[in-house]
Amino acid sequence: MQTAEIHRRWLDFFAARAHTVVPSASLVSDDPSLLFTVAGMVPFVPYLTGLVPAPFPRATSVQKCIRTNDIEEVGKTPRHGTFFQMCGNFSFGDYFKEQAITYAWELLTTSEADGGLGFEPKDLWVTVYEDDDEAREIWRRVAGLPDDRIQGLGKDTNYWSTGQPGPAGPCSEIFFDRGPAYGIDGGPATDDDRYVEIWNLVFMQYLRGEGTGKADFEILGDLPRKNIDTGMGLERVAFLKQGVENMYEIDQVRPVLDRAAALAGKTYGAIHEDDVRLRVIADHVRSALMLMSDGVTPSNEGRGYILRRLLRRTVRSMRLLGVETATFPELFTASRDAMMAAYPEVASDFTRISRLAYAEEEAFLRTLTSGTGILDTAVANTQRAGKSELAGDTAFLLHDTYGFPIDLTLEMAEEAGLSVDRKAFDSLMASQRARAKADAKAKKTALADLSVYSTFRSLGETVFTGYTELETESSVL
Ligand code: ATP
Ligand code: MG
Ligand code: MG
Ligand code: MG
Repeated sequence: MQTAEIHRRWLDFFAARAHTVVPSASLVSDDPSLLFTVAGMVPFVPYLTGLVPAPFPRATSVQKCIRTNDIEEVGKTPRHGTFFQMCGNFSFGDYFKEQAITYAWELLTTSEADGGLGFEPKDLWVTVYEDDDEAREIWRRVAGLPDDRIQGLGKDTNYWSTGQPGPAGPCSEIFFDRGPAYGIDGGPATDDDRYVEIWNLVFMQYLRGEGTGKADFEILGDLPRKNIDTGMGLERVAFLKQGVENMYEIDQVRPVLDRAAALAGKTYGAIHEDDVRLRVIADHVRSALMLMSDGVTPSNEGRGYILRRLLRRTVRSMRLLGVETATFPELFTASRDAMMAAYPEVASDFTRISRLAYAEEEAFLRTLTSGTGILDTAVANTQRAGKSELAGDTAFLLHDTYGFPIDLTLEMAEEAGLSVDRKAFDSLMASQRARAKADAKAKKTALADLSVYSTFRSLGETVFTGYTELETESSVL
């Protein structure tokens, strides 16, 4: 089943059940304090918190999302993209737990011929919050699941709250069992390679009080109006339905992977490290395409910096596959062709998008060329002096002035038989960060307020790490 078909079935299913179909909001969230839309619920936050009366009692969407905190997982797990689409159904004080569970089970297990997604009940497991006896009972009754396929888990994974006083409630998640070839038979609680999380149902039913962290707070009572917020990963369902190994092999992504492999003269599936790089490239090109299509342009701060990082990581990954010339014209065209059916704007706006992307690639390739010259000289000088370690300030200069990534410095130094004084490099980086932080504080940029991110810490694990991540990961580039 093509990704577009799953997308269509999702909206049709909920539209037929009185949900208002709401188009995806931009990846650039309306909320100026949030870098990107990280979940389907983001555009609905004012209705879910009750700040604004909902214009409809039920809604459904397929929301474009970016999660930069998953960047290190990309290509290594089968299920984490920096860009992905979250299918959601929402109830604003309308239906609640039993109906939400019933809908989810019905859509997943109705046969493909009858318009459903055609999963076999025997392949599905669910988790509930350990004290949520009501959800457990509904799953037993509605889905006929035996007790051992309903696992109770703690607040860490199965409780939602904003991180501050306000709405809160248990979650229930649905997992697909890929079978014994992928891991041990202990259910989602034990293994997340074998059991792929596909859908999270959040039951907003309580009012929580003060407290710290995700688990340590007091429940003050029931909410006057209970809400439902769910999120199903479109790419995850697509890869399971398309019989491929991971989300980078689905119809919307695979063509980019194949193009990268062809450019590099690699056979996908032959060498694990190369496969990871190809998956990273396929993911990042798509994310960059979608971000630029929503108006983000490469820059040195905020959203533009995330985009720049994705583009540079793509260049870097191609280089690690042995390609040192420009590849974006091929890769972005492939991604456009794979995404334009779902998002026609990536085609109509492609001239502008591709110009930005190609210019960024050219600039970074020049950086790599000039940095390589400087590094070669430094390596020769170090060797002539009879030393085996490249100075930390050389690595820092390369990074700071020439934008030359540290991992590349490490790799090229190693090829020349040298180590790098990483300690000195790290401490120079730390003082630079402290300076940047002081600067940002002085500028009081709109993006410097981190408090809002706590609002979204609740859909499963932490959803966004904002600037902390920018800092800790700046060493990647
Ligand atoms: P995981 O534990 O696998 O990282 P999650 O618990 O962080 O997922 P949720 O916050 O519950 O995910 O988001 C709802 C759904 O969105 C998930 O069940 C999954 O299907 C999908 N999803 C979440 N993160 C990603 C991602 N990085 N790439 C693709 N799909 C995702
Ligand atoms: Mg989850
Ligand atoms: Mg999870
Ligand atoms: Mg996650």
